[in-house]
Amino acid sequence: MQIPDALVDEMLKAKRVAALTGAGISAESGIPTFRGAGGLWEGYPVEKVATVEGFAEDPALVWRFYDERRVNMRNARPNLAHKILAELEKHYDMWVITQNIDGLHREAGSKNVIELHGNIWRVKCTLCDYHGENRETPLSEIPPKCPKCGALLRPDVVWFGEPVNGVEKAFRIAKESDVFFSIGTSALVHPAASLPFIAKDYGATVVEINPQRTPVSVIADFIIREKATVALDALFRELYKHKK
Ligand code: NAD
Ligand code: ZN
Repeated sequence: MQIPDALVDEMLKAKRVAALTGAGISAESGIPTFRGAGGLWEGYPVEKVATVEGFAEDPALVWRFYDERRVNMRNARPNLAHKILAELEKHYDMWVITQNIDGLHREAGSKNVIELHGNIWRVKCTLCDYHGENRETPLSEIPPKCPKCGALLRPDVVWFGEPVNGVEKAFRIAKESDVFFSIGTSALVHPAASLPFIAKDYGATVVEINPQRTPVSVIADFIIREKATVALDALFRELYKHKK
């Protein structure tokens, strides 16, 4: 595939680069994207497994859902797209702002990561200030209890209706970036979906990488209708030729 020369030029001039990523960037690591058809998420009603109310009603059901997803994700490894974004940190003032909860950006080596929706490998107590990592798959106890106080633990992910993590910082990064990528996200869930629009308003070159059309397509300066690995590999090769 061919990367437009004008995009290569923008990247060669750029100092600050950011990428908003969604489930699509992890699809090639074998993690299914969110197909919200009929309000079901992997066969579960979204309002039962991804809301505070759903958790209050049936914590064991919610934990079974997350346990299943953790089991499905445990062998997933960062793919070339995650790795190239990590590599770009060596060349740019670079941030990854992700909606994914799989932790693959950090695993690929990215340090500047905002996990807007949290991380499925972290837990936090519903009562005390305990929070920590938990990689046990499958969980030996459902629902798991706090090692400090014995109360219920919950996944350290952001549910519908809860404030997302690091949103102010994400907005600042969008405003300050020279090039802003939107990669593998359907760009429907706000506030994340606003970020490419804010970046554009503040003068960034907006690049969409997604095999499908999204609301970002309307304002993107460049659109690459390819898989994330294919598009980023082609872009990185072009930049490498220029020793950026
Ligand atoms: P989404 O599932 O709504 O959209 C995925 C997008 O990725 C689509 O636009 C699709 O065309 C595109 N896509 C599919 N394969 C691709 C590829 N190989 N390369 C590039 N693009 C590709 O995802 P979303 O916008 O992130 O919203 C889903 C919500 O569900 C998020 O809030 C997220 O937290 C959660 N979620 C996370 C994961 C994960 O952590 N990996 C997985 C599923 C859902
Ligand atoms: Zn506790």
